Amino acid sequence: MNFFNSQNRHLLISELKKKTFDLVIVGGGITGAGIALDAASRGLNVALVEKGDFASGTSSRSTKLIHGGLRYLKQLELALVAKVGKERAIVHKMAPHLVRPEKMLLPLFSGNIFSKFILSVGLFLYDRLAGVPARDRYQMLKPSEGELLEPLLSGIPIIGAGYYAEYRTDDARLTLETLKTAATFDARCINYVQAQSVVYDSAGKVAGLACKDGLVGDEFQIDAQVVVNATGPWAEKLKNLPQSKKLFLTKGVHIVLAHELVPIKQAIYFNHSDGRMIFLIPRGRATYIGTTDTPHAGSPDEVKVAVEDVEYLISAVNQVFPTLNLSIKGVESSWAGLRPLIFEEGKKASEMSRKDELYFDSSGLVTIAGGKLTGFRKMAEMVVDGVINKFFINKKEELGKAKTKSLKLFGGEFRSYHEVEKFFVELCARAKPFGLVRGDVRELVFCYGTRSSGIVEEYIRGVEGGLMKEEALVQATLGYALKEEMLLKMVDFFNQRTGKLFFHISEIKKDMPIVLRFMAEHFAWDEARKRKELDTLKKAMFDATVVLR
Ligand code: FAD
Repeated sequence: MNFFNSQNRHLLISELKKKTFDLVIVGGGITGAGIALDAASRGLNVALVEKGDFASGTSSRSTKLIHGGLRYLKQLELALVAKVGKERAIVHKMAPHLVRPEKMLLPLFSGNIFSKFILSVGLFLYDRLAGVPARDRYQMLKPSEGELLEPLLSGIPIIGAGYYAEYRTDDARLTLETLKTAATFDARCINYVQAQSVVYDSAGKVAGLACKDGLVGDEFQIDAQVVVNATGPWAEKLKNLPQSKKLFLTKGVHIVLAHELVPIKQAIYFNHSDGRMIFLIPRGRATYIGTTDTPHAGSPDEVKVAVEDVEYLISAVNQVFPTLNLSIKGVESSWAGLRPLIFEEGKKASEMSRKDELYFDSSGLVTIAGGKLTGFRKMAEMVVDGVINKFFINKKEELGKAKTKSLKLFGGEFRSYHEVEKFFVELCARAKPFGLVRGDVRELVFCYGTRSSGIVEEYIRGVEGGLMKEEALVQATLGYALKEEMLLKMVDFFNQRTGKLFFHISEIKKDMPIVLRFMAEHFAWDEARKRKELDTLKKAMFDATVVLR
């Protein structure tokens, strides 16, 4: 049974009600997804509930880099740099189409906090700690070499540049593919189900989770021996954090502009005059820029981009690249995410550690807080090792060690990035006679990996059946999301499934009627439900652009 087929949701809910699970995870971001995959692949019975769509929290609102955290070198967190640096290579192997190598250019200006010497030592350490292979190690470039790689730097008084290896990803897709892979090991993962409280038996031990179906309002219980709270910024709501530990939320904002307004040839990372590091990253037809780091005091459900955030990023870029002359009018879309940091007395937001911390409660409630997208696999291994040692010690031999290092994520069945490129070229040849250009195919391959060939075949059937190119492509990807990715709401197709809400917002108006018609037929929506879906989508578009009006 494919429990990621949206038509099977009622069957999934009846399983959740009937079965007793070893552990139930709360939170369908990358942390929960990683734990579900690790635990299920070792043989534990796993359920996971997510109150919104999968990856609708921080895990669709990051900078989308799988990185070793060069900035942590500044804070001398060498162990953290080494840990996440090594993980990059492992996560790349799990999904080479989705976690792709990307060179980063770090220009140096006179008066920079990085001198050439310090940067060179930093990048040397960074490469060694992260175990970067010799062919990919950093280079220090002269100004003329930097300009050659990035023509936008010409005319700007740089004294040199660092050029080093990073990886990029799509955070929401990475989360989805991790969850889908967990489901192949029988994990039962469901979106739009909110955990309301932990249920205890008369001896004070965890007995399960009281839940509410966010679509139809039904309340039900999932029986489980252990509850893992992987709710990121929401962690204190189901908490077992010790009194001494508090979450400290900081907001990070990104803005998106058309690539022609910020025509970078490759990713750039530069030091702003206030000391913050800013990324400029090309993605298809757009460039995105981030990020800010300011305390967030309100509810994690209400995190918004403020006009000051956008102005800060625009002015940071204009300071370094004055010829771009960016203004708020050029910004197409934006997003804000929350970093759940562990509060440290006397430190500024940007100085607090990004380390993960794990808390066990002998009753069976486990909380994981902090962490990074990059370290999700390792963090999951640590959580599941801890869960087995505390609660399933009698099954330790049978469950064994983590298997995720050698797993392939759904769609990631490539041996190397070279194979991804070969697959891309072959798919281009297949799709070209039917009107798909290289850019369309590249987006499909980067999103769906090996599964993009099935989507292309569906697209071809649509075109041969008389559909226009755009309609056939939307229907093919939408059909896939409904059958394979538990798509339940229209807004989620444009957000977590395809990223169009942020990276191609102007296309949504054109796609909207096709998506509405197709989904309404699929789910037999009445007029009221159709209106609600449209309103929700329009609100998300408004939120992504509100400060830009
Ligand atoms: P989330 O993704 O927030 O997931 C928690 C989930 O729990 C949410 O989906 C929420 O809806 C759900 N939930 C909450 N309460 C309940 C409930 N009661 N019942 C059911 N579900 C519930 N890391 C990197 O490695 N690289 C980067 O480039 C990077 N950039 C970043 C940039 C920014 C601006 C930010 C904020 C973070 C960045 N990070 C980055 C960190 C990374 O994004 C986070 O560490 C990671 O996404 C956290 O995932 P999570 O699953 O813990 O939290």
